Amino acid sequence: MTITHNLGFPRIGTHRELKFALERYWKDPSLDSDLQAQASRLRARHWARQSALDFVPVGDFSLYDGVLDMSFTLGNIPERARRHGGSPLDQYFRVARGRATVDDACGCVHAGEMTKWFDTNYHYIVPEFDGATRFALDTTRLREQLQEARDAGVRAKPVILGPLTYLRLGKSKDGSERLALLPALLPVYAELLDWLGAEGVEWVQVDEPALVTDLDARWRQACADAYAHLAGHGPKLLLATYFGALEENLSLACALPVAGLHLDAIAAPHEVEAAIALLPSDRVLSLGVIDGRNVWKTDLHATLAWLEPVARRLGERLWIAPSCSLLHVPADLELETGMDPELRSWLAFAVQKLEELRLLQSALDHGRVGVQDALIANAAAVDRRRASPRVHQPQVAEAVGALSPALGRRASPHAQRAAVQAAVLALPPYPTTTIGSFPQTPEIRQARLRHKRGELGDDGYRAAMQAEIARCVQAQEALGLDVLVHGEAERNDMVEYFGEQLDGFAFSANGWVQSYGSRCVKPPILYGDVRRPRPMTVAWIRHAQSLTSKPVKGMLTGPVTMLNWSFVRDDQPRALTCRQLALAIRAEVLDLEQAGVRIIQIDEAALREGLPLRRAGWDNYLGWAIDAFRIAANGVRDDTQIHTHMCYSEFNDIIGAIAAMDADVITIEASRSGLELLDAFDGFRYPNGIGPGVYDIHSPNIPSREQIVGLMRAAASRIPPTQLWVNPDCGLKTRSWDEVMPALENMVAAARTLRAAA
Ligand code: GLN
Ligand code: ZN
Repeated sequence: MTITHNLGFPRIGTHRELKFALERYWKDPSLDSDLQAQASRLRARHWARQSALDFVPVGDFSLYDGVLDMSFTLGNIPERARRHGGSPLDQYFRVARGRATVDDACGCVHAGEMTKWFDTNYHYIVPEFDGATRFALDTTRLREQLQEARDAGVRAKPVILGPLTYLRLGKSKDGSERLALLPALLPVYAELLDWLGAEGVEWVQVDEPALVTDLDARWRQACADAYAHLAGHGPKLLLATYFGALEENLSLACALPVAGLHLDAIAAPHEVEAAIALLPSDRVLSLGVIDGRNVWKTDLHATLAWLEPVARRLGERLWIAPSCSLLHVPADLELETGMDPELRSWLAFAVQKLEELRLLQSALDHGRVGVQDALIANAAAVDRRRASPRVHQPQVAEAVGALSPALGRRASPHAQRAAVQAAVLALPPYPTTTIGSFPQTPEIRQARLRHKRGELGDDGYRAAMQAEIARCVQAQEALGLDVLVHGEAERNDMVEYFGEQLDGFAFSANGWVQSYGSRCVKPPILYGDVRRPRPMTVAWIRHAQSLTSKPVKGMLTGPVTMLNWSFVRDDQPRALTCRQLALAIRAEVLDLEQAGVRIIQIDEAALREGLPLRRAGWDNYLGWAIDAFRIAANGVRDDTQIHTHMCYSEFNDIIGAIAAMDADVITIEASRSGLELLDAFDGFRYPNGIGPGVYDIHSPNIPSREQIVGLMRAAASRIPPTQLWVNPDCGLKTRSWDEVMPALENMVAAARTLRAAA
């Protein structure tokens, strides 16, 4: 009999109930019992949705973040959060979100750092370590959830983050060695496992996704030591790996003294055979056979074709599950009643994926005939999708097939273009600009909502947005900025805005995926060949340009960012989908140029986050990603200036690839990391224009003229001043006009100071 289980279920609730309960509690801390009650209801509901499984995850639910939960379970709470006492819940959110208190000057607690969970769009709170870190077990959270699971009558499999990955994801605050903490950490893990055993738990899922990353010999040894130490403590351990292949860590993982190993057979189907061969014959092999990171229906016939022989060989030892936690997909497709029925028939969200798992189990255990109808329906949907004219547009294939590298090359080298552009644009030294968006005011959101609901007609909406653009242009003229933007009032989201206008994209109504804490995103679903039926931005930019004699930047989202922030098709390589996106953006770039737009910015905010987990995969990714950007951007004349923007400062390790994009100007996040960013320029002379962000738009603080001058002088000591631009870190849409105006005033004043001194 094949065992089914799940690694984790989306927590936020189909209607984002957790988000709203959190926000109510944050506003009014007396609502803590309401928050806890909502959390219990969600857990009960999620277990009910999973009740057909043999093992149901417990402890995967979190009020904010699972890694932060683990820090609390291990008693690793930053001193600054403990110092002021308060309830455990209060301390928890102090680390999660920070807190500034007005009444008590030292009550200000900064939040724990947040960063991306492997190569997903989920963000976790980074564990903090220093030489004095001590651990102490706190089982409160797990005890409550286990008790609830028992009451709900499910077969509970608690989920914890393993010691290797926990240490690996944390940061040392004082330069001390993280691995040196292992001897102190392991007894607490052992105690936790002993306690779970005493609670009558049969299996514990220990997540160790760090095993799919590059580990050096010391970390590999630490992994072996850790599990040797934990052997014999508590229940049976299922060591869960996901998001990639184990590669050189496979033999290590197979040799660990645990009772079972979970492999991501979607990301690494080629490792299944090797794992069967390496794993001792008394171990369980859990295979992630359903994609936990994408929204497509599983091809059940194809899966059974390879899984049936595996099941025959493994018998009782085979477990099946989604490839990873279902945290990364929306909860339930049933809610998408407004979605086109054909498209809907191609999809599976979390609940549907678990149903697929049950079908697979039934087919494996009792033969395909018992679930014949469901298999036939599945095959029909899969076939329809494969053959659908909505997915395949012959012109797109033709256009992509005709791509040549020449399309991605500018006519002249940068130095030559720069001279032509300087003559056309006549900008001062240290030109000032912004990244694109200006505040998204309540009035803008209101107008969009009313337009969507049909209360405001197309003409009325257009007029409202044009008025916002005019306001934005006037403000920039008053500030004395050199290169203006239209302000992006008409855009709700930088990917969705374009996706809605391109063939090949669809949008869900409730397809929320947790990004961090209470924040969710609704990624577009890129299901088919991408084509641009008509210009997407030209009219807005033209309107803005008609209001000023200063240059207005055309503003686009790049192909790599559109790809990385969407659920993309699984029936062709990502690189190919990216080329299709590149052609669509290229057409828009050329139309903007045609319309007289002299500067065009193509944002690649998410370029870096597409980097593969393993270093060995970087060159391949950067190769096709940069090519796609070049195809999108580089079809323009010498006198058209291309800008790009990136939302991160760590690009030391990819600066060669970024230079290869050959954008005339690049703007990047820099203000928070101070001078760190500039290290990249010591070993590599970035050849084109560059605007290191000097205004941290994530913070309500307003930088002073002196601060900005200081940052720019530091930049000018490493980068020739003729290459430098002055701009904020990122778009201003989350800030208010009250914050933006004084900050930009100081920025313009700083540029004048720099020019006067030059
Ligand atoms: N042009 C976009 C804006 O200003 C860029 C946003 C981003 O980089 N995330 O909002
Ligand atoms: Zn940005």
